[in-house]
Amino acid sequence: MRTLLADHPLVTHKLTLLRSEDTDSATFRRLTDELVTLLAYEATRDIRVAPVSVTTPVGVTTGASLADPKPLIVPVLRAGIGMLDGMTRLLPSASVGFVGMVRDEESLVAATYANRLPTDLTGREVFVLDPMLATGGTLVTVVNMLLDRGATEVTAICLLAAPEGLAKIDDAFPGDNVRVVTGAVDDRLNDKGYIVPGLGDAGDRLFGEI
Ligand code: URA
Repeated sequence: MRTLLADHPLVTHKLTLLRSEDTDSATFRRLTDELVTLLAYEATRDIRVAPVSVTTPVGVTTGASLADPKPLIVPVLRAGIGMLDGMTRLLPSASVGFVGMVRDEESLVAATYANRLPTDLTGREVFVLDPMLATGGTLVTVVNMLLDRGATEVTAICLLAAPEGLAKIDDAFPGDNVRVVTGAVDDRLNDKGYIVPGLGDAGDRLFGEI
């Protein structure tokens, strides 16, 4: 697994606002959207493109167009939905699949409750959206689902990551076809599996407590 820490000053600035307990849901959603765009810029640095000819008002040149098969974006429900608009704005021709995962608050083990993924992902580049890489259990399950379907490269975009989660992904996927792009690597997990200092429950903060 390869990790890219996108610690650009603008990312850190927006993350700082996002972390604050005084930030309301509307502002949290807007900041998340802006952060995804910045992280996606790094995450798509090696995206596959094909050369295309383009005619400008003054000549002809060779440009680039996203190669086929087009990438797949997979937000992990529920909190990953808050990152979807920002990502599809950058990659409007990508298709979108969904995985729903819920974490048992006692055991911290994640279970799958929804799966809307294409059955064949042969040759596809996949971008997984999950704001918090905490224990890593959810991401291991989702990446395995994608690789089992034939995905070639999987890049997870996470606003924040814990060292424990990064280590788990690295153990599970030693190859460099799996990448994590994150805005910050925080200190640790607490005994409830929350990232410290983190930002709390990303789903609750995006959509209000349930
Ligand atoms: N999920 C969250 O929303 N927050 C954390 O800190 C860990 C997992």
